Amino acid sequence: MKKQTKAIRIQTSRTPQMEHSTPLFLTSSFVFDDAETMRAAFADESDDNIYSRFSNPSVQELVDKLAALEGAEAGYATASGMSAVFGSFMALLKQGDRLLACNSIFGSTHTVIAKYLPKYGIEHGYLSASATEAEWEAAITPNTKMIYIETPTNPGLEILDLEMIGRLAKKHGIIFNVDNCFATPVNQRPIEYGADIVVHSATKWLDGQGRVLGGVILGRKDLIHEIYLFCRSTGPALSPFNAWVLSKSIETLDVRMERHASNALYLAQQLENHTAIAALRYPFLPSHPQYSIAIKQMQNGGGIICFELKGGLEAGRNFLNKLNLLSLTANLGDTRSIASHPASTTHAKLSEEERKAVNITPGLIRISVGLEHRDDILADILQAL
Ligand SMILES: *Cc1c(COP(=O)(O)O)cnc(C)c1O
Repeated sequence: MKKQTKAIRIQTSRTPQMEHSTPLFLTSSFVFDDAETMRAAFADESDDNIYSRFSNPSVQELVDKLAALEGAEAGYATASGMSAVFGSFMALLKQGDRLLACNSIFGSTHTVIAKYLPKYGIEHGYLSASATEAEWEAAITPNTKMIYIETPTNPGLEILDLEMIGRLAKKHGIIFNVDNCFATPVNQRPIEYGADIVVHSATKWLDGQGRVLGGVILGRKDLIHEIYLFCRSTGPALSPFNAWVLSKSIETLDVRMERHASNALYLAQQLENHTAIAALRYPFLPSHPQYSIAIKQMQNGGGIICFELKGGLEAGRNFLNKLNLLSLTANLGDTRSIASHPASTTHAKLSEEERKAVNITPGLIRISVGLEHRDDILADILQAL
């Protein structure tokens, strides 16, 4: 079956109620017929569910769908994207190891790497999103155990070359871990380019309707087993209810992402030469600096566009205040279009210099393009500009 079909048809086995749509297994634990079955489950001699911190059918259904989409051998679902990121670090890195990352990463991921990993003796190094193959190779030290990147990056939409970094990771025997939140597995599959681990915030496009938090870690069976053992003891398990909501969402992921991307491409084309905009970035516009990498590794340009307003910080704040339809909110990847101004909100705590280092300019606006009619989204942005 094609991956789109698997994302719809993978389902927990039908119960005697003969339900068509997937049931919700909202239960903390599972019962056993007798002492021997229970003993065997606890001895890992069977795959029987024991307790929902370890496994749960609703959660497993979501993992199986996402593993099919990413082409992963196994997975574990977590309560949020950040617990997926943290779990993938803590289970696979130890004191003295070094994590090499791109510096354009999600804010909380940077906090984990720069503030918390050092408490456990785990070192880190950062490279810019535009680092060359030679710069990546030069940054690899004997204790570099993991490479971690996001592509496209948030909020600057820089594109990193998955094939190039995957090749280097393989050559040096390093675990390659990719946060694939922005593209989603229907648009980009890092495992095909050599990633060992893929992490997701399911809160964003995977839910796609701004309802629940969730995360997932997918990848090589041996690595996922280590992550599973870490998570089943430390407890970042995904709620079965959230898993059930997310699993229903995955049934529509492919069609939703197609529309998000076609709306985004249309807006990008219409806005690119607007007189109030100094520069606009969208991965599938030929003007994007890494356009050739984007079209190599992505199916479409995704649902995010960003642009720099002439007039800097004040222009950014004014733009947000003038919007009528677009929502001002911290999330992205929703049916409803969202505008954000990183310099005055998500990245306001950074110094001007720090923001510059990760390409966050004062007038940068990020639009998460929703599923409303493209003409209504465009009209609202144009009147605000
Ligand atoms: C939101 C986000 C995360 C964190 O996910 P949560 O579900 O909010 O914990 C991680 N990476 C990226 C790229 C994100 O956008």
